[in-house]
Amino acid sequence: MKNISNANEVLKDKMKIVPFNDKDNLCLVGPVKLPVKQGDFEATFQWYTWVAAEKQLDTKETILHSIVNAELASKQQSSVLVYGDFTNADDAIIRMHSICHTGDIFGSQRCDCGYQLHESMKMIVEHGCGAIFYLANHEGRGIGLFSKSLAYILQEEGFDTVEANLALGFEDDTRNYEEAIRVLEALRTKPVTLITNNPKKLAALKSHGLLAHDHIPLWGGLTETNRHYLETKVKKSGHIPEKQFIV
Ligand SMILES: [Zn+2]
Repeated sequence: MKNISNANEVLKDKMKIVPFNDKDNLCLVGPVKLPVKQGDFEATFQWYTWVAAEKQLDTKETILHSIVNAELASKQQSSVLVYGDFTNADDAIIRMHSICHTGDIFGSQRCDCGYQLHESMKMIVEHGCGAIFYLANHEGRGIGLFSKSLAYILQEEGFDTVEANLALGFEDDTRNYEEAIRVLEALRTKPVTLITNNPKKLAALKSHGLLAHDHIPLWGGLTETNRHYLETKVKKSGHIPEKQFIV
């Protein structure tokens, strides 16, 4: 029999309250089975989402009541795709992927984000266990989609990625990994190996004692249109270059 109280019981079983900071908890929901097909690649992931909820909304019931008026569609939520026995496997690889509307959705060749997203999904499935965190609020290294279009206009005038963000009055990179790290800790207590070229991401996980091994680098998808962008990542943002990478 379908009724509201049954529905709430079903939902509450899939919700987990994760302490975050003085003001907020995170409400983690999942797993939700998510079969994925991209070209020849097919896999079934377990999908989780989360939202920050004020500490006073301290029960799953109050959170369920509050979502109708929370205007979640006008705000961004992050999520994570999990593959394999993520909680228990000794060896798991993860990626912290920053949202990129143009690269991930449209396949823009101005950056390598789409390549990195899809390649790391394949790597995790081949490895047998891992997770991809898809991080909202990270668009354009934290400046937002609208500002990113302004930055692209400046880049066409010869500014590099870093210079364009600075010229618009932003700090170069304001991305924060704390929520994702708390969610990672809620899903798995054993260390992980990070797929990245970005030393800031490595440092964020290292500071929480979550790193198992050296990182797995992820270079590729180099085209004439993103060469300058990739070179700037190495020259100005400290990304760990591929051995053959020419800068
Ligand atoms: Zn991108």
